Amino acid sequence: MKPIRSLVLVSSDPESIGRGAQEVHRRLQRAIEAADLENEVVVSMVGDVGRHDALPMVIIYPEATIYGPVTPENVPFLVEEHLVERRIAAGLEASTRELSGRIAWLSARRGTLPAEQRIVLARAGLIDPENVEDYIVHDGYEALAKALTEMTPAEVINEIGKSGLKGRGGAGFPTGMKWRFVSQTDDYPKYIICNADESEPGTFKDRLILEGDPHSVIEAMAIAGYAVGANEGYIYIRGEYVLAQERLATAISQARQMGFLGETIFGSDFSFDIHIHAGAGAYICGEETALIESIEGKRGEPRSRPPYPTTHGLWGKPSVVNNVETIVNVPPIIQHGAAWYRRFGTSNSPGTKVYTILGNVNVTGLIEVPMGITLREVIAIYGKGMQDGASLKLAQTGGSSGSIVPASLQDTPLDFDSYARAGVSLGSGALLICNEDTCVVDLAKVSLNFFKRESCGKCTPCRVGTQRAYQILTAISEGVGTQQDLDDLQMLSENLTEFSHCGLGQTASVPIRDVFRHFRAEVDAHVQLKVCPAGACPMSGQLAKAA
Ligand code: SF4
Repeated sequence: MKPIRSLVLVSSDPESIGRGAQEVHRRLQRAIEAADLENEVVVSMVGDVGRHDALPMVIIYPEATIYGPVTPENVPFLVEEHLVERRIAAGLEASTRELSGRIAWLSARRGTLPAEQRIVLARAGLIDPENVEDYIVHDGYEALAKALTEMTPAEVINEIGKSGLKGRGGAGFPTGMKWRFVSQTDDYPKYIICNADESEPGTFKDRLILEGDPHSVIEAMAIAGYAVGANEGYIYIRGEYVLAQERLATAISQARQMGFLGETIFGSDFSFDIHIHAGAGAYICGEETALIESIEGKRGEPRSRPPYPTTHGLWGKPSVVNNVETIVNVPPIIQHGAAWYRRFGTSNSPGTKVYTILGNVNVTGLIEVPMGITLREVIAIYGKGMQDGASLKLAQTGGSSGSIVPASLQDTPLDFDSYARAGVSLGSGALLICNEDTCVVDLAKVSLNFFKRESCGKCTPCRVGTQRAYQILTAISEGVGTQQDLDDLQMLSENLTEFSHCGLGQTASVPIRDVFRHFRAEVDAHVQLKVCPAGACPMSGQLAKAA
């Protein structure tokens, strides 16, 4: 048998599938067979490949040539040129050959970008997410085997603790500490919950992990279950993530068949199984106690804390709640050790962070970068600079609940501690990059519009406060705001922070707080001069821009 000489990957995110990726895949297989190359060329569907400008994409290794968009009609020419004649299929290449640092092993080969090591996205875009063998070939389930056969539960928790892994959902709580709290209780049963209810506007990183590498979530949850003494897990997934749900269901079924889930895993006395629970579209169900209420079949409203889920979680029992990005860090930490993990990122924020980059940059999409990289580096290296050479005005770091970070902080390292010291937060992983044409009043108004719609209504400061703040911001953006409105807005912001029952209401104040803190002169211009310095707000029905 001849050695494999080419690997052909076809993107299979929802957009690619909608544009005919499956037919491209079928025709590639047929064309490769017709060319008598089936023993030398492997063709595979993979998850999201990290670019959305030319889908569906076909990437051929080892040359790392990127073609896209590829239609079924293009396939015979592509196979003939690239795989038979061994030359570039002219006219089919994607506009930019580079995957903007999002395919780690391209970066590693080139050796010029900071993200030379992927941890969370190591397999996403490289393996067939519906093929468990592909996952196993890429070191899949090795960490679970190691944990169950070579480590005690306490050693697993110690290793996660030593790694310094912190929650990637925004709060940055140490994962090892959370697991230890659950392991120390003698109340059974215990539960592992993976929060896959990713609903922050502009964030889609968890979806790409789930679609591209679903077995990694299953393996991580099983390790967590072993560590804390839980035998059952739930993945609470956003209802709109249909493809991710299908792939998770397939992966769970495969894991059961192969004995990675179920009774006596790897011959140990540990048993574990996972259920999928799809959400119904409420943003608040991303809050861990509202999520738990929702799994229990109740209306998704946050509970009062304490007690915390670590002692009173699902069905009142001890529960670990980790989000997708957090928990998929676990297998590589167990496999390679905490010391290896701490080589990435900073001493207080080890590891990497996955971001979606959006807005006024030349290349948007998904990246995994070491903790501690700066916004300036992200924009220059991965975003390929600002569109049209414009200047950065601000970045919103975590969807609607993220901080509004002014350009003056673009050299602040993107890690939990540095951002906290600068008075901003890292957020959940969306980086909205904005140029000088962005109006901060408009940006805050859009954020408050989101919060007023998503407020669950349980407490008055949030239910009424977000409505009123949105009304005031609308008045300011229309040129009819008053000084009293500004005072009221400031007071509302403080009350939202202080008196809201949960994180949704508390973070609803963040856009207002940041706009006042960093862009007060621009807000005042709307009220006192009745102009929008960015020229974005319809002042009294007309665009008014300062001369
Ligand atoms: Fe509901 Fe908002 Fe109160 Fe949270 S802060 S409980 S979302 S009303």
